[in-house]
Amino acid sequence: MSLVRTTCPYCGVGCGVLVNRTPEGVTVSGDPEHPANFGRLCSKGSALADTIDLDGRLLKASIQGRDVEWDEALDHVATQFKRIIEEHGPDSVALYVSGQILTEDYYVANKFVKGYLGSANIDTNSRLCMSSAVAGHKRAFGEDIVPVDYEDLSKADLIVLVGSNTAWCHPVVFQRIVKAKEERPELKVVVIDPRRTATCDLADMHLPVKAGTDVWLFNGLLSFLNRHGVVNTAFVSAHTQDSSRALVVADNTAGEITAVAKQCGIDPTLLGEFYRLFALTPKTITLFSQGVNQSSSGTDKVNSIINCHLLTGRIGQAGMGPFSITGQPNAMGGREVGGLANMLAAHMDLGNAEHRSTVQRFWDSPKIASQQGLKAVDLFEAIHERRVKAVWIMATNPLVSMPDADKVREALERCELVVVSDCVARTDTAKYAHVLLPAVGWGEKDGTVTNSERCISRQRAFLPAAGDAKPDWWIISQVAQRMGFKRDFAYQSAQEIFVEHAKLSAFENDSKRAFDIGTYANIDVKQFDDMQPFQWPSPVAPVKGRLFADGRFYHPDGKARFVATTPRKPVNAVDEEFPFVLNTGRIRDQWHTMTRTAKSAKLSQHLPEPYIDMHPQDVLLCGVRTGDLVRVTSRWGSMVVRLRTSGEMPRRMVFVPIHWNAQNSSDARVGALVNPIVDPISGEPEFKHTPVRVEPFVVSWHGFALSRASATMTDAAWWTEIKGEQFMRYELAGRRVHGDRSQWARRILNATADDADWLEFVDNNAGSYRAVHIVADRIESCIFVSPRPDLPSRNWLAGLFAKEKLDDADRAGLLMGQSPDPAADPGATVCSCFGVGRKTICSAIAKNNLSTHQQIGALLKAGTNCGSCIPELKAILAEQKYEEGAA
Ligand code: SF4
Repeated sequence: MSLVRTTCPYCGVGCGVLVNRTPEGVTVSGDPEHPANFGRLCSKGSALADTIDLDGRLLKASIQGRDVEWDEALDHVATQFKRIIEEHGPDSVALYVSGQILTEDYYVANKFVKGYLGSANIDTNSRLCMSSAVAGHKRAFGEDIVPVDYEDLSKADLIVLVGSNTAWCHPVVFQRIVKAKEERPELKVVVIDPRRTATCDLADMHLPVKAGTDVWLFNGLLSFLNRHGVVNTAFVSAHTQDSSRALVVADNTAGEITAVAKQCGIDPTLLGEFYRLFALTPKTITLFSQGVNQSSSGTDKVNSIINCHLLTGRIGQAGMGPFSITGQPNAMGGREVGGLANMLAAHMDLGNAEHRSTVQRFWDSPKIASQQGLKAVDLFEAIHERRVKAVWIMATNPLVSMPDADKVREALERCELVVVSDCVARTDTAKYAHVLLPAVGWGEKDGTVTNSERCISRQRAFLPAAGDAKPDWWIISQVAQRMGFKRDFAYQSAQEIFVEHAKLSAFENDSKRAFDIGTYANIDVKQFDDMQPFQWPSPVAPVKGRLFADGRFYHPDGKARFVATTPRKPVNAVDEEFPFVLNTGRIRDQWHTMTRTAKSAKLSQHLPEPYIDMHPQDVLLCGVRTGDLVRVTSRWGSMVVRLRTSGEMPRRMVFVPIHWNAQNSSDARVGALVNPIVDPISGEPEFKHTPVRVEPFVVSWHGFALSRASATMTDAAWWTEIKGEQFMRYELAGRRVHGDRSQWARRILNATADDADWLEFVDNNAGSYRAVHIVADRIESCIFVSPRPDLPSRNWLAGLFAKEKLDDADRAGLLMGQSPDPAADPGATVCSCFGVGRKTICSAIAKNNLSTHQQIGALLKAGTNCGSCIPELKAILAEQKYEEGAA
């Protein structure tokens, strides 16, 4: 048995994970000593052990589909990069990396491109989630600094959550807020979000702001605070600049509450209440996330929030400040090494000649990039225009995650050289690679990551590298060496790279930059192995204690800047042709493009299909019904998804999750619809506002199949694949079926024609068909088809796949798709951690007269692990109570 302390590879909360490896397998639990989570994990973190098998892994390098050894692959990449640079200059090549890679990988990639290729064409998928926060921090503070810690959440008296479905996207942070509120019910929580998300479950106040109007709202707050004298004049005059202009712009654009409320689509009384609450609560934290950042005015939104904290001096003290929470596990680490096209390294600037000289002398590099490179959207545009001729994509899936994703596909089709390093063999992006390089995955990686509160933690390996997989830093170093930079990329371990990174952070720093981890510059291998999570600035680092506590910021004069923010509407407005605003985001149990989380049956049950969420009145206007398949179309592309009406949506807005892709669904890449408009300063795309229309997707049959083996999609106009325990589930729909139904079903399920145990029910007049394939008394597969979408529940049939032998009662229900005992169907999964379904919960509530989620937890365990399903449990309790009342 071996116990390894490591870090979760998913969101920016950065939870510590304990991995227990025994001959029976791997189990994971929360690390009780990690300061980010103190033992808690969300549903995704809890299911990590389900995702580490070798199924689907990329195990071998290949060139044009031909398996090759590492030497050949690396020589090929180095030779081709060199040739293209010689022919077309350094800006004709680019790297597109990821917030999933470790700081050491990021450091080497950034050094290679900016110091040795002499270009700044290295950007990252972090551009898509938090570059507006980076730009806002730099404008306000002079450096990209998050001045709040998780611990502050328990010290605040007011937490304002803006554009953040924290309950689903940063669940362990949300649980910290839940705990803080339980301990101090006087803590107030305000949610500012167009949707009434699960996060609102905790809110004392929900402001359903109209998409894209946050600058009006926060300019209005700034003006209100000023008019009512809620100004820390000593702080403003001693430690800030440019307040007058910001206040004039705020007064001119949002000086009157009723007008602001109208602009933001909020009740003016509610808005006034929020402004008063903010004004009266010194210990206020404004936590914001992608709902703020992913906008054509994302940077201004960030600064409009920071302005309010500067005016009141609510920054640099316990329990207060603006708190940007990062999306990815190492978005912050990428920022520390300068892994974006407009940054240098160690929080230094590309545009600053002194910084360029500092970094070049430290690296002793032949060159240093002198101007910004191409940011993500511009980069793929440049590939499309054949200005960039070679791209190396690392640990990310831009064909799914980028806006205008069909054009990104075209760009890769046109590109002379596409290199993809990944740990997964089949992704939408890998399909277009000329060279595939196998990288190590979570559990095999070794290095560091930095979370949203600047806490640097070790990711430690507990598994051997799969196949030929290698660390990303090794792959880049090998290519760099082959391009002639042997001395400077002779790294042997992640520790060597971390030490160099720490040294650079302190090099010629003299407290000019807050990011300084120089105290770690001389650690040896053992110290690196034993390294405990630490936050910068740490008590021993040159910059000590709480950031900004002394009122010192990082502009040359040491003062913070107010930024005058003029509100702007989203660039593309809705119209008659595209009348709805498309908002995109994450769901509770999936991560990014599902390459890992879709391997877990547990995580695939809560929201199993790609969907669109709409307001019920808008559904009527579109001539569709809940549960239908619908086509969603924008000016850039279209997709087909299931229609849902969760009750969370405001009128005229629809929501589609970002996760599904061409590997697990026929037509569900929402990136293809998203407009490629970006914020002019940060380059972050406007993922929260694309005009779309919704129309019926007409099919003549609906169906589903469950099968131990993979099924073959035949005659399906739409399909999606969902992982189950010991089977795959397929949801299907189509317009016609060619030939005999029985033969067709056997083709889909890959069942041989002479199989004896093929039970079927055929109703040709009604167009219904059902078949169950039984092998050695076990269910092997089944298929149900009907012209109507209301097919039997999949849950009871799914449960049969765990049985070694079907009993008589099971057989009796097979072709009905339901057990003779109604209690045998658990219903749709609510609690992923313990696999508890809705029907089980409803029946327990009715039978035992339960009235709280704690009682449900005590009886069924639901909600007692990560707590992410508690809002849903509360909603079920409320519904049941309402139904009882109505009865
Ligand atoms: Fe991982 Fe969940 Fe923690 Fe995020 S909140 S780091 S996904 S366990």
